[in-house]
Amino acid sequence: MKPPLSLRNPNMPSGSGSLMWFRKGLRVHDNPALEYASRGSARVYPLFVIDPHYMELDPNAYSPGSTRAGINRIRFLLESLADLDSSLKKLGSRLLVLKGEPSEVLIRCLNKWDVRKLCFEYDTDPYYQALDDKVKNYASAAGIEVFSPVSHTIFDPADIIEKNGGRPPLSYQSFLKLAGEPSFSLSVELSWMPPVGDVGRCEILQVPTLKELGYVENHQDEFTPFRGGESEALRRLRESLSDKEWVANFEKPKGDPSAYIKPATTILSPYLKFGCLSSRYFYQCLKDVYKNVKRHTSPPVSLVGQLLWREFFYTVAFGTPNFDEMKRNKICKQIPWNDDDKLLVAWREARTGYPWIDAIMVQLRKWGWMHHLARHSVACFLTRGDLFVHWEKGRDIFERLLIDSDWAINNGNWLWLSCSSFFYQYNRIYSPISFGRKYDPNGNYIRHFLPILKDMPKEYIYEPWTAPLSVQTKAKCIIGRDYPKPVVSHDTASNECRKKMGEAYALNHRLNGLVSEEDLRKLRRKFDEDEDKQEPKPRRQRQKLIK
Ligand code: FAD
Repeated sequence: MKPPLSLRNPNMPSGSGSLMWFRKGLRVHDNPALEYASRGSARVYPLFVIDPHYMELDPNAYSPGSTRAGINRIRFLLESLADLDSSLKKLGSRLLVLKGEPSEVLIRCLNKWDVRKLCFEYDTDPYYQALDDKVKNYASAAGIEVFSPVSHTIFDPADIIEKNGGRPPLSYQSFLKLAGEPSFSLSVELSWMPPVGDVGRCEILQVPTLKELGYVENHQDEFTPFRGGESEALRRLRESLSDKEWVANFEKPKGDPSAYIKPATTILSPYLKFGCLSSRYFYQCLKDVYKNVKRHTSPPVSLVGQLLWREFFYTVAFGTPNFDEMKRNKICKQIPWNDDDKLLVAWREARTGYPWIDAIMVQLRKWGWMHHLARHSVACFLTRGDLFVHWEKGRDIFERLLIDSDWAINNGNWLWLSCSSFFYQYNRIYSPISFGRKYDPNGNYIRHFLPILKDMPKEYIYEPWTAPLSVQTKAKCIIGRDYPKPVVSHDTASNECRKKMGEAYALNHRLNGLVSEEDLRKLRRKFDEDEDKQEPKPRRQRQKLIK
């Protein structure tokens, strides 16, 4: 790990001002950029910019929120900002909120305020890389020192890639070997901060409410039970770590994806996403627990192992051009996915007719969080398991609706689940019927998230279309009227998918990965012709069922 810049440049004149630009990293604990901004400065401007790119209301979106973020995540962010403001106030400072295109706002502030140091956490996401370049170029030309430490992840992805000769490691095990033990030191806990500098005529906002941003809170809809902010992150962390045996024995994928009253994992992902919780602090706390128990699980299944999955995906995403695309992405198999938007909408709107899949999609809409294996089930179903819809389309829906939506991790997992990269056993398909039943035979999870099925007897809860009409009538749920018929027959669709994946893999193999658009078009045409030859015709049948 590189030495902190604070040690490299002790000559900052006292009395100068610093601008601390918060984006992620919404915390005061283990925040090296904030520590450096505060050190040796007479004034600090702690700034957050409300970015219309993520936050502007989109009245035409398929669910409340902006084009890029559902209302749950926007709310989570505002709660995190309010909590950060309150922590800063306890240290003698406060959060300054401005609205606008962040690089323009930043450049205006650097121009008008007395700033000699600009501090912000390094961000590997392509959106921030481009933004940060603009701001850094301006600051350097203006003689402003820039300090941008890596603190969103435990390792610096660039270091790992360098150790591997300039290429990212493409397997978890090779990542672990390269990474070794991390060697960070947590930044110093702040007990006070320099006062906020003079902002001149700049109109500073308070942390806005959803309503002030133009959003209408729909009280009829269930909101995510998870509150944003560093205080809540640290409380949840303490709660999770208090059961040392649970931490020591944690083994994923053994948890129950249908557990929703007491979920089987930590639910720290949204806090890590926004940096309300430092991943380095989380890692250190886990290591402290391990020191005090006789035995504990290990990566990839342990809790430390989960954090290292996060590091793995950050590293590959950072080192792979066009990581979020199929076409220009060298590590992604080229597969002629279909463009069936009706199937996509049925999946998104929880109308596939498979209660296990639909309940998970309702949890996504209402909570913005689901268990990892629940995510596996719906991602597999949408892509290589049943519907053969492009993984990028499912990725976009997760990206918008998840409260833990994370560019590197989300894309990495969609590549994995669709067998486009990392994992290639496309014959292993999750059953939308028996997989959930294994964990929750009574279907309590389904009854909670799909109350229309709450009176369906347990024999039929995973396959309600097989219930006799008398049973459907008694359960007040007629299939095809109150709840949809299945959009596809799983047995037929999954066999078709296996066949298509086999042919697509063969094409990739034959052309050594250099598959052109025309090659893909040809293979898609063949798939369509094969489907049309079959009796009954599944493609037409599918469209009929959706209507
Ligand atoms: P825990 O099991 O308690 O794990 C602790 C932390 O480890 C998590 O908070 C997370 O930061 C990290 N972690 C756990 N599993 C993974 C994993 N497979 N990959 C990378 N990091 C992991 N996670 C996100 O944070 N954001 C996403 O946008 C996201 N999209 C996903 C999309 C798909 C299709 C799938 C299958 C998984 C996705 N995940 C994503 C990974 C995983 O499902 C979540 O991180 C996890 O369920 C979060 O719950 P938790 O905090 O209770 O996890």
